[in-house]
Amino acid sequence: MTEKFSKIALRMKSNIIRELLKVTSNPGMISFGGGVPDPDTFPRSEMAEISKEILEKEYKFTLQYGQTEGDPILREEYISLLNREYGIEGLNIDNLLVTVGSQSALDLVSKIFLDDDSIYFVSKPVYLGAASAFSLRSNGYVYMTLQEDGVDLDIVEDKLKEIETRGELDKVKFIYTISNFHNPGGVTMSYEKRKRLVEIAEKYDVLIVEDDPYGDLRYEGEAIDPIFKIGGQERVLLLRTFSKILSPGLRLGIVIGNKNIIRKMVMAKQASDLCTPSLTQRIAARYLQRHNLLAQIKPTIALYREKKDLMLTELDRNFGDMNGFYWTKPEGGLFIWFTLPEGFDTGEMLELGKAENILFVPGQAFSLDNTCQNSMRLSFCLPPKEDIIEGVKRLKKVIVEYGKEKKLL
Ligand SMILES: *Cc1c(COP(=O)(O)O)cnc(C)c1O
Repeated sequence: MTEKFSKIALRMKSNIIRELLKVTSNPGMISFGGGVPDPDTFPRSEMAEISKEILEKEYKFTLQYGQTEGDPILREEYISLLNREYGIEGLNIDNLLVTVGSQSALDLVSKIFLDDDSIYFVSKPVYLGAASAFSLRSNGYVYMTLQEDGVDLDIVEDKLKEIETRGELDKVKFIYTISNFHNPGGVTMSYEKRKRLVEIAEKYDVLIVEDDPYGDLRYEGEAIDPIFKIGGQERVLLLRTFSKILSPGLRLGIVIGNKNIIRKMVMAKQASDLCTPSLTQRIAARYLQRHNLLAQIKPTIALYREKKDLMLTELDRNFGDMNGFYWTKPEGGLFIWFTLPEGFDTGEMLELGKAENILFVPGQAFSLDNTCQNSMRLSFCLPPKEDIIEGVKRLKKVIVEYGKEKKLL
């Protein structure tokens, strides 16, 4: 039969990371590709204990449909966490929505804000998951170049001015930004830029969507106030998730924003999945009550810090004296963005990498216009230390081989 797919369905394409994951488990393969946390860091015995208890004693909640907005206990606990850890005040549970991971929140944001002529701002490189959620509904993205201290705000101002002159400011729906330890860029937006971003957004009356899955995974340096804290709930929609600090398998994301936006997202969510699983929400709620989540992740932070430092050392050892090779030095999160001289095509290099048993994500995967070819994303959190050393060595071999073949080195 002829499948009569919708226009949106026809725009969907399989993403390169998913393809990559298929060969990750090949014997001998070292992968810097996956963006997933180390499963040995998940507090499995604590979660097992809680699960058993809440399945037996709270089954009327945990095995039942729940409110679309989410488990009230989890939302209350999360409000205290935001208050305790970030000094965020003035929230009540109507400001929070629990989603099936932040990915679902990105999809809901796309649904409630974007028409096919809408304009939105994203970084270059862009987080793949956000790009796919947004670009299905509108191709009207505006790029903000990523710099060491966050996106280039001069571009944002210039573009907004230009759009205003065209009389199209109403079409600008939001500025999407990852404030801490950008995926894939590894960089963090400075406090000065956060403040200026809020000022710009206020001047042009645009919403900021702050995606912050990694803020709690800081390995060094001082924490910076969330944009949400600076701009407030009328200006900023904050997306948080348990995926990178507790467990991605729980599939729990939290959206924090003004009540009108949350209410609209609730309506959109009703059509998508009715509610986030009651069981995993209550596991997280009880976990937050009984354990200090951010204290519990300290060993994880120490482990990732060592791996991050090791990868930086190895990059320096292998590429430090090569011209035109540079990489970001993240203070947290899971990723290093590695840029090679012009002419290198990391997408083409992937096959060579597979042959040498080393995986990375080509930069192109993080672009909406097939650019970023000479960059790649490296993740240091999953491979054991000896694999980080060996993996960077293999990477060097692949790069040298490719560079010689193309007469780039
Ligand atoms: C991992 C990640 C997410 C969301 O993951 P979920 O598991 O869906 O919560 C969102 N944004 C960025 C930038 C991420 O890296």
